[in-house]
Amino acid sequence: THDIKSPVGHNRESRLFYQSRSRRPLIDRAEGVYMWDVDGKRYIDASSGAMVSNIGHSDPRVIAAMNAQLEKASFAYRLHFENDAAENLAWRLAERAPGDLERVFFVSGGSEAVESCIKLARQYALAKGQAQRTKIISRFPSYHGSTLGALALTGYTPMHAPFAPMMVDQPKIPAPTCYLDRDDLSDHDRGIKYANMLEAEIIKQGPETVLGFIMEPVGGAATGALVAPDSYYGRIREICDQYGILLIYDEVMTGAGRTGKYFACEHWGITPDILAVSKGLAAGYAPLGAMIAPDRIVGPVLDHGGFIHGYTYAGNPLACAAGNAVLDVIDEDGLLENAAASGAALKAELSKLSDEFTMIGDVRGKGLLLAVELVKDRTSMEPIDPKHMAAARLVDIAYDKGLIIYWRRTRGGYRGDHVMVCPPMTIKPEQFDDILVPLRAALV
Ligand code: PMP
Repeated sequence: THDIKSPVGHNRESRLFYQSRSRRPLIDRAEGVYMWDVDGKRYIDASSGAMVSNIGHSDPRVIAAMNAQLEKASFAYRLHFENDAAENLAWRLAERAPGDLERVFFVSGGSEAVESCIKLARQYALAKGQAQRTKIISRFPSYHGSTLGALALTGYTPMHAPFAPMMVDQPKIPAPTCYLDRDDLSDHDRGIKYANMLEAEIIKQGPETVLGFIMEPVGGAATGALVAPDSYYGRIREICDQYGILLIYDEVMTGAGRTGKYFACEHWGITPDILAVSKGLAAGYAPLGAMIAPDRIVGPVLDHGGFIHGYTYAGNPLACAAGNAVLDVIDEDGLLENAAASGAALKAELSKLSDEFTMIGDVRGKGLLLAVELVKDRTSMEPIDPKHMAAARLVDIAYDKGLIIYWRRTRGGYRGDHVMVCPPMTIKPEQFDDILVPLRAALV
C-alpha cells in the first residue's frame, strides 16, 4: 500500500535495501519545515523525519559550524585525542539535565544510547557486588531500539519473533493506556494503579534480581504519544527508590526539546538514574546520541575495571559540533517555548478535527509530540481496521498530498491505530494549514 512510483530520474535499479522492496521519491533539498523531491513536489515534514529534525532543515548556523569543524578535524578517535566539541556539548547537556545527571557518554543513535544504559546498569550492579541483578523491566507496548539488547526491552513482539531464541526475555508491564479504561477511578488513582504494576512485577521477579526499569516519559510510535497521569511519574520514582532499582528514562524521542522542555522528565520534576537521548540532539544534521548518568553510578563502574563498552564514532567532533550548533539554535530562537506554544495550538486544532470526524478517537501528546488515534467508534475505541491499517492508508493519502506524517506498521503488536503529527519545533501557527488542509482532505 505504501509504494510510491519512482519519479523520472530515479528509474535505475536500487542497490540499497531497507525493510522492503518499496521505493520512495528521491529527495532534492529541504529547508525549514519543507522538503522537495527531484520532481519539484513540495512536502511539509510534519513528522520531522522520525521525530529527528527538531530545528528544521538546512539551518545555516548548523551548516557553518559543521563546515568549520570539518575544516579543522573531521574525526579524532577518542583513545587518541579529546575534542572541544564533545567536551563542550557534554558540559552543556550536564547543565540542562536535571539533578545529578552530569556525566555524558556519546553514541551515534538511539539504540546505541539504550544499549549503553543496559551495559552501565549491569556494570554498576557488578561494581556493587550484586551480580544476581540481571533484569530490566520495561513496558508493553514500547520502543527502545532494534539492537538485540534494546530490542529485548522493546514491547513489540513482531520485531522479536525471528530472534526470540537468541534473546533474553526481559519482563514487561502494561503501558498506562488510561484513555482506554472505563473504570470509575480518578486520573490520579489510575496513574497510581499503573505505576503499582511495577511494584508487583518487581516482587514477582524477586527484587534482588532486578537492575532497573526503563520507560519513555511520553510514548513514541508504539503507543502514539501516550502521556500518563501526573501521579504515575512520581510513584514510579518512589518504587524504584524503595527497591534500589535504577530508573532509566528513554528520552531518545522526547529529549532535546520535542515536548517543550529540553528533557521531558522536567515536566514532572523527576530525575531518572540514567537517561538516553538521541534523535533531536543533533537534529538530523549528524548521527548522535548520548547516555547521561550521575557520578555516583559512573564512578564505581570506572573504578571497578572501567566501563566495558564503546563505539568507534563515540564523541566524534563533527557530530558534536552539529550538536552544539543545534543547541545554540534552540536557545537563540526560543524553540523550547515555541514547541510548547505551537504544540498546544496544534493539538487544539487536531482536537477540532475530532469534532468533524468521529473516526478520531483520541488526540494526545505533549509539546510537539502529538498523535491522533483512529477508531471505529469512541465507545468501543476499537481500531477501524482489525489489521490496524487505517493509519497506514491515511499516511499514504497524506503523502500524496504533500503532507508527511508518521506511522509504524503495527502487525498486531502495538495497541491502537494512530498517526504521529510532530513537525519541527520551528513550526509557526501560520504554517498549520499546510498540515491541517491535506490532513482533513485525507480523512474525508
Ligand atoms: N528509543 C526510542 C524511544 C525511540 O523512539 C527510538 C527510535 N524510534 C529508539 C530508541 C531507537 O533509536 P534509533 O532508531 O536511532 O536506533
